Amino acid sequence: MSGWVKVAGLGPGDEAMVTEQVRAALAEATDVVGYIPYVARIAGRPGLTLHPSDNRVELDRANHALDMAAAGRRVVIVSSGDPGVFAMAAALFEALEARPDPDAVDIEILPGITAMLAAAARLGAPLGHDFCAINLSDNLKPWELIEKRLRLAAEGGFAMAFYNPRAASRPGRFERVLEILRQALPGHVLIAFARAVTTGEERLLTVPLSQATADMADMRTMVIVGNADTRRVGRWIYSPRRAG
Ligand code: SAH
Repeated sequence: MSGWVKVAGLGPGDEAMVTEQVRAALAEATDVVGYIPYVARIAGRPGLTLHPSDNRVELDRANHALDMAAAGRRVVIVSSGDPGVFAMAAALFEALEARPDPDAVDIEILPGITAMLAAAARLGAPLGHDFCAINLSDNLKPWELIEKRLRLAAEGGFAMAFYNPRAASRPGRFERVLEILRQALPGHVLIAFARAVTTGEERLLTVPLSQATADMADMRTMVIVGNADTRRVGRWIYSPRRAG
């Protein structure tokens, strides 16, 4: 049988949010590669080899998967959420770009429910109007670029979804994010902190921007900033479909 690589999104945590397509790929796989906590979500079975690896080795992992597929193995690369959102799909194509024949390997990207959409659904409909998604990690881009994009998104009136809001390796950065938002937006704008959504540790908190503090976010949190019209209705928040 000829090999393949499928890059699969496992969703935000709830097993009911793993698609049938991803389940089928995992059932046919000979090998699963991915970041340790994501591979830990995969049940072992005879004939399946699990290859957990550390963070920040994405290119090695992608090359390993491509090499195994070329040798006839059926490889699933797992990501949390959606594999195309700040995750392994782009890393796979980076690895592929360096190879002589990118179409030699049979590749498929299997979408998943990204954290931003799972968080938005738990909160109500904060992304009901125009929005943008920003990764606040400066691992792969300069911090100045993050600040510039924050300012322009706020100026553009977009709601915003932040991935990787806070890390021990960048102390003080999220405080700076809040400062930039406060300079650009009115204090009543709502900011939601949606932690570990769809898991047993889920925690949701919405406050006006004027009351937000950095300790409301951690690495398992999606931060969603509303636009100027985003409002509460009962226990929900939503952004009206119309603006201007
Ligand atoms: N590919 C993933 C994102 C990877 S970046 C996706 O599509 O969801 C990792 C960041 O995603 C975390 O720092 C956090 O901001 C967010 N995240 C992932 N799972 C989450 C969850 N269950 N609840 C809240 N945020 C989550």
